[in-house]
Amino acid sequence: MQKEIAIVTGAGKGIGRAIAERLVADGFYVLLVDQDRAAGEKAVEEIGNKDAAFFQADISNEAQVKALFIETDKLYGRVDVLVNNAGIIRDNMIWNMEAVDFDLVIQVNLKGSWLMCREAAIRMKEKQQGRIINIASRAWLGNRGQTNYSASKAGVIGMSRALALEMGKYNVAVNVVAPGLIETPLTSGIKKEALDKLIAAQPTKTMGKPEDVAHTVSFLASPKTSFITGQTFYVDGGKSIGAGI
Ligand code: NAP
Repeated sequence: MQKEIAIVTGAGKGIGRAIAERLVADGFYVLLVDQDRAAGEKAVEEIGNKDAAFFQADISNEAQVKALFIETDKLYGRVDVLVNNAGIIRDNMIWNMEAVDFDLVIQVNLKGSWLMCREAAIRMKEKQQGRIINIASRAWLGNRGQTNYSASKAGVIGMSRALALEMGKYNVAVNVVAPGLIETPLTSGIKKEALDKLIAAQPTKTMGKPEDVAHTVSFLASPKTSFITGQTFYVDGGKSIGAGI
């Protein structure tokens, strides 16, 4: 296959779907990975199967991740860009949080991204070429009710920095995009009163759109930016500045 291949996880909806669409527009052939088959297939149908395909996988399952990469080897023979976007929340104050909800969020957000990175790194090291973009969150700086999620996303940033050190000499860049409050199915469940408060605390007084994240990923997925590595880019309307309301 002539086109560069990009794998995007959690691409059935929300931010991942916008990233997949943007990378197709940039000229990549995009493999949309999601555990939600219906959403993934609908996304490919709407994007067009000339430039995109769907693969169902749970990124926290080691066997499924390995199978995904073996299939990619067979069908396309290359992986040029990996975007680790799939992620979940299970929010609660720590005194109400079950250990199972801590484990699950770490298992998907951190271990799942690590499993995907390992398979991509093996292939990119061999080819001496690639870009990995991991989607963390501004919440790694700390959010009440998100001890599990903040820890998982802090882990993603630490992992990405270490991986950037390991992969630098193999011409593989590893960067992080840390979104703030973005309008997606994940945030659609936030009650209006709480959402209004969150928006009021934003320097921009707005919520972001999935496309805001997709533009930044597009920049980092380009071979033209491959001298940038180990960095974290906030796409958060300035919330990470930390000045409050
Ligand atoms: P979303 O609307 O919930 O979409 C995420 C997609 O990933 C869903 O289709 C989901 O399937 C899938 N997924 C979840 N776990 C998976 C797994 N183990 N294996 C494969 N696919 C899986 O989420 P989003 O808001 O677009 O968020 C995307 C990423 O951005 C996440 O990493 C999130 O932490 C991060 N982020 C989001 C915001 C925000 O405000 N939205 C802010 C900061 C960071 P199911 O629906 O079946 O779970």
